[in-house]
Amino acid sequence: MTLGDLLNRASEYLSERNVEDPSLEAGLLLSWLLKKDISYIYANPDMASDPETEKAYLSIVERRGRHEPFAYITGECGFLDYTFIVDQSVLIPRGDTELLAQSALFALGHNPVFFNHNMFRLKKKDSFRVLDIGTGSGCLAVSIAKGHKSVFVDAVDISEEALNIAQKNAKRYEVEDRISFINADFLDKSLNFSATYDLIVSNPPYIPLKEIPFLMKSVKDYEPHLALAAGEDGLIFYREIANRASSLLAGSGIILVECGYNQGHEISNLFSDKGFETLLLKDLSGISRVVAATKK
Ligand code: GLN
Repeated sequence: MTLGDLLNRASEYLSERNVEDPSLEAGLLLSWLLKKDISYIYANPDMASDPETEKAYLSIVERRGRHEPFAYITGECGFLDYTFIVDQSVLIPRGDTELLAQSALFALGHNPVFFNHNMFRLKKKDSFRVLDIGTGSGCLAVSIAKGHKSVFVDAVDISEEALNIAQKNAKRYEVEDRISFINADFLDKSLNFSATYDLIVSNPPYIPLKEIPFLMKSVKDYEPHLALAAGEDGLIFYREIANRASSLLAGSGIILVECGYNQGHEISNLFSDKGFETLLLKDLSGISRVVAATKK
């Protein structure tokens, strides 16, 4: 078969299985498999493929047809300027979360491109301590450590498998000596932190349990529920962060949390009820995505 034949068949197959953008997906999968640019694939539809490629392609197209996320098939996902290693033990880093990472870098004194939000800033210091609650793939911990040389991060996660992935990502970007990985349940009341932090970031699980069955198949069937579900109302992690905030934060420290599309105001209130000044940062579609809080 030619590359063009493979693409046509795959695209038809994915379309029958209701995968969004079937022809693009078919192209991207073939491009990944052959380690060639997608433009190369499109420019060479008459090139012959070998049986081994056909078999391997069929297998990944079938997986995608079952709605397995692209990132789990390739084992990688882009986030800001980086490519993070992922597997089914971690949430796939989302574009939305880039706003949180950029806000964190702004708080640390940087001026990320296209970042034009009203945001708090930390006073200049020789080094900063950062806490990342629910680090998952480590996309936040690693990109913050990578973006600022004198940052030391404590990255907490309940899942040991997730921490293994986060550690691999820290090694990939050579920041493993500035990140401590802590295997713990942040909701565990007996969990103590020995340090205080200049900056706390978290993209915690925030989906109410009853909404899990209605998530997209690719999320519901493949991504770790531990990283998604958060009790009856989706706010349990924010409540715990707000409760612990005063003791976890250094004097003029900043908290940055990502939130679900309709949770911004409620979460902001959780922090203002504890005496924090808050800001809501909107994403490109105008949805409140990040709540920032600092002591008044
Ligand atoms: N911090 C990781 C991310 O933002 C994991 C988040 C999670 O598992 N809820 O992708």
